[in-house]
Amino acid sequence: MEAQLYYGGSWHPGVHGRQFAIEDPATNELIGHAVSADVNDLSLIIAAASLAFKEWSRTEVQERAHILQAIYRTIMEHQEELARLLTREEGKSLSESRSEIAYGARFFEFYAAQIFQAYGKTLSPPVNSRAGWTTKVPIGVAALITPWNYPFAMICRKMAPALAAGCTIIVKPAEQTPLIAWQFFSLLHALSLPPGVVNLITGDPEVIGPALVRDERVRKVSFTGSTAVGRRIMHNAADNITALSLELGGNAPFIVFDDADIEDAVRGIMACKFRNAGQICVAANRIYVQRPIAAKLTRQLVSAVTALRVGNGLEPDTQVGPLINQEALDKVSEHLHDAEEKGAQIVAGGSKRAGPGYFFWPTIVTQVNEMMKLAREETFGPVAPLSIFDSEEDAFQAANDTPYGLSAYVYTRNLGRAMRSSQSLEFGLIGINDPVPSRVEAPIGGWKASGLGREGGAEGLDEFLETKYVSVRF
Ligand code: NAP
Repeated sequence: MEAQLYYGGSWHPGVHGRQFAIEDPATNELIGHAVSADVNDLSLIIAAASLAFKEWSRTEVQERAHILQAIYRTIMEHQEELARLLTREEGKSLSESRSEIAYGARFFEFYAAQIFQAYGKTLSPPVNSRAGWTTKVPIGVAALITPWNYPFAMICRKMAPALAAGCTIIVKPAEQTPLIAWQFFSLLHALSLPPGVVNLITGDPEVIGPALVRDERVRKVSFTGSTAVGRRIMHNAADNITALSLELGGNAPFIVFDDADIEDAVRGIMACKFRNAGQICVAANRIYVQRPIAAKLTRQLVSAVTALRVGNGLEPDTQVGPLINQEALDKVSEHLHDAEEKGAQIVAGGSKRAGPGYFFWPTIVTQVNEMMKLAREETFGPVAPLSIFDSEEDAFQAANDTPYGLSAYVYTRNLGRAMRSSQSLEFGLIGINDPVPSRVEAPIGGWKASGLGREGGAEGLDEFLETKYVSVRF
């Protein structure tokens, strides 16, 4: 497989023809190459997107809606082949890959309808001889920079509202996962979208990243990735005051109160923590359990975690696949080493699986405290760190003690506690007895160091629209 650049409605090998390799994280086999673009390629791509914006921004809403519906249908028709490539390139189990493809497709179906709701307002005139109104117009060429952990869905979550709004787009996928983007663009190519509306660039972010964000023809940057890179993008976007959406890292607390249904809470932790081998921005990163139920919950969790089947995502019974690369394995090991040195205990898992691939055994750590990296940083691996708390206030205080504010989870059967939790937790997304609250219709986004702006829902469309106010005196 060889992923080329896509712009102006056709494929390009890159001005210098340089490439980089992509490996299967489950086997370490080489599975393909992608073009390593330079700034000359980038300039051609931005020119194609700018030229296309003139026409595309004026297409009738109905026409754009029909194109989005066609994209939805083509993704679903090719769900299986997309899912298989996603598993090979990213490692998650095939059933998770199928879900990711379907979730991504749904954004096109949703925004094909949502674009008809992008209303402006009529203002009450201060005097009879004046009228005023607002309209929503597409913001311009949008750069969509995406991470490797949900490499298909994160493209769709940005691309669908951007195209619906009338923006032309340039997708920059992560270096570990350009092939799924390339395969998706092959499907888009077959739909014969107007040239320049959708464009794809791959390559070294040190070379093309700052140039893409700083180019004055790019009016919007929608980024999902780490907080560290998000900060750099924010600096670069300052040059032209380019509009920004930043979906960044998280450090989610998962609080289980003593009145919770323990079996349900254990199922919740399994779903929230071990999907995609824990490589999820909204994964439970710190699990707080109220003292009276801590021993029972830990026992049940250990038995559920040790029963997880770890393996190549293409094998039908696999539940936990590999991590993305050696760096990810090293980070998990480093966090566990730090925790053990500071008094934590590993009660399940705790090591890399022998043999090829970047596998780490699903792990449970107890006696975790706030001094440990496990509690302060995103571990991004299959590690469930448990801490015990006594009072509701202690739980909220510990949960909010982080610069991040993406997602938080609470398990309780007490309505008052559920309501106090929803009020006290400083996060953009709160799941109460719900370990997977993300959905296409809902606005997802972080507070504090977890980002700016929202994706999904009506709010996700607004990120690609500008407001124009018109006043008429007559
Ligand atoms: P990352 O290292 O920040 O990379 C994200 C993207 O930014 C990649 O395409 C990367 O390219 C590119 N990039 C790197 N440096 C750049 C620069 N200077 N200018 C422009 N682009 C640049 O993140 P990741 O490791 O791929 O993803 C994991 C992170 O994403 C985690 O922190 C996770 O929490 C976060 N995430 C957040 C959400 C959310 O909804 N909030 C969703 C998913 C993931 P290269 O790959 O080529 O380096």
